[in-house]
Amino acid sequence: MIARRGVLLGALALPVIARAQGFAGAYAPAAIAIGEGIWLVPGADEALEPSNGGAIANSVIMASDAGAIVVDSGPSLGFGKALAALAEQLTGKAPARVYITHLHPDHSFGSAAFARAEIHSLPATRTDLERDGAGFSDAMYRLLQGWMAGTELILPQPAAADGVVTFGGRRLRLMALSGHSAGDLAILDEASGTLIAGDLVFHNRAPTTPHADLPAWHAALARLAATPHRQCVPGHGPLDRGSTAIAQTGDWLRWLEDSLREAVGSGLDMAEAANLPIPARFADMAMARYELTRSVSHLYPRFEAELLPRIDG
Ligand SMILES: [Zn+2]
Repeated sequence: MIARRGVLLGALALPVIARAQGFAGAYAPAAIAIGEGIWLVPGADEALEPSNGGAIANSVIMASDAGAIVVDSGPSLGFGKALAALAEQLTGKAPARVYITHLHPDHSFGSAAFARAEIHSLPATRTDLERDGAGFSDAMYRLLQGWMAGTELILPQPAAADGVVTFGGRRLRLMALSGHSAGDLAILDEASGTLIAGDLVFHNRAPTTPHADLPAWHAALARLAATPHRQCVPGHGPLDRGSTAIAQTGDWLRWLEDSLREAVGSGLDMAEAANLPIPARFADMAMARYELTRSVSHLYPRFEAELLPRIDG
């Protein structure tokens, strides 16, 4: 990490080169009030790109008597600092508790900005970040360059578990789920009726599947759907004032699995599968073709192994 930082600082001393590499400046996260003492900080509905600094995931800020509560710290130290400042400005208190919903770096790499707060995740998320964190870090630095300056992986405490937590007078129901990844934390803020779903739920933005376990994901969606709530904050995409996004995510995942299994069965190769027609009901979904292509690369080998057993053994 130190060597990489040295290289980056060198690059920043040469602004022309740094700009040519895509270093685009400062983060400016904005907050939308979505209830009493709760704000959504929306990410861009885009892929991780230098033009957005990796700020593509939704974060949530909540007020409490003990300090601000933040859900998902964003992609980098720079974003985390801007998010922490925004949380303090909105709530009048510095962040005291951070929840990381799952391992993916667009949700978890801003944690170094929250050194004074307790940073909690599910145990599986901590374990996965111990395994994959260094690789994520390399990939994020390569892709986002100057945006990542100073970013170091901070492992969360594996303290989150199923059940109700009261923090600074705010009651949060934590749900220990999986399916998008091995550990997906969802949080119901009881005061506002807001279900913060992490990447178990995408809204008008195609789901990502690099660590997906599809049956577990459907089971998690069923539990979220059965949890009474007024509104849902997806991991990506706009606030859902009902349960549309939960159903939409399940619909996409079912279509994806059925289509890819059928494609394997009819002998399509991966390039042909990536060009399958996308149903009209997903026409408004951002990143649909892009995520279908990525999902083919993640899921196709798995379905082929399952559906086309080897005949030479
Ligand atoms: Zn994710």
